[in-house]
Amino acid sequence: MSLFEKSIKSKNQQIFSPLLEQKNIELFIKREDLIHPFVSGNKFRKLKYNIQKAKKEGFETILTFGGAYSNHIVATAVASSIAGLKSIGVIRGEELANDINKTLSNNYSLKIADKHKMLFHFISRTDFKKKTNFNFIERLKKQYGDFYLVPEGGTNSLAIQGCEEILENEDTKFDYICCSVGTGGTISGIINSAQTHQKIIGFPALKGDFLNKEIEKLIQKSKQSWRLETNYHFGGYAKHEEKLIQFINNFNQQHKILLDPIYTGKMVYGILDLIEKGYFAKKSRILAIHTGGIQGIQGFNKKLINKNKTPIQF
Ligand SMILES: *Cc1c(COP(=O)(O)O)cnc(C)c1O
Repeated sequence: MSLFEKSIKSKNQQIFSPLLEQKNIELFIKREDLIHPFVSGNKFRKLKYNIQKAKKEGFETILTFGGAYSNHIVATAVASSIAGLKSIGVIRGEELANDINKTLSNNYSLKIADKHKMLFHFISRTDFKKKTNFNFIERLKKQYGDFYLVPEGGTNSLAIQGCEEILENEDTKFDYICCSVGTGGTISGIINSAQTHQKIIGFPALKGDFLNKEIEKLIQKSKQSWRLETNYHFGGYAKHEEKLIQFINNFNQQHKILLDPIYTGKMVYGILDLIEKGYFAKKSRILAIHTGGIQGIQGFNKKLINKNKTPIQF
């Protein structure tokens, strides 16, 4: 059976620490990162029903958009190849096309996508902003033939349907569900499938306040209680703080769970910081979703090493 027809259940791993004991709080991490090395975590959930639909409707090719280090690009390339589909990645940064061998040897993410036969279409940052225009898409169809389109970041209604399968029956015992937020697709699926007694907290990886409205649009109208905790973006995608890297390395040493520096590292840092500040009541049970993203570490480390900073150990 293909990966995309399976229903996958990830284990919840309990975290033990003096802080959690002292505050009398239970913290579990749902290991969605273990689903697949490259189609990991929420990217598997988001692609599952899109891949199924593309196959059912007889498409041969998936086309999507992303930055040069994007987890979504890598996941789409590998997922398509597993499903027997071709893939095209429209990548931000036309300069990357100048010397493709150099680009691939410098960029682990694109190298993996290339290995899985993704065809790259590099465009300028200006053109990238126009990528959802009708004319732009039509031109791509003229050039490459018909394709099944998955938006940047992978968020559409089928992606949300896939993310509604992250929570399991046994997870109803948790009071809080925490997840990292990029486009808001993943948290929307979680909000839709959570119980009414559960509170959902999203940790945006980026600054900006467009997300609340975006998520309102994506979720079904519900009485579900959710909020975004916007203090833990650490300055944005490419930027970082040494504090975060140190935290990721310590956390991995103590708990044998590798977190990524763009999404899940910030979320777990945020959860532990909130616990320390007394945000959660005693006896709270928290479930944090490890949405994956581990493939991005090599590219991130390369930049850290270039700046003479300590890399993430794994
Ligand atoms: C893409 C990604 C997210 C963000 O998911 P959205 O559905 O866009 O909010 C979170 N965590 C990881 C590891 C990701 O790769």
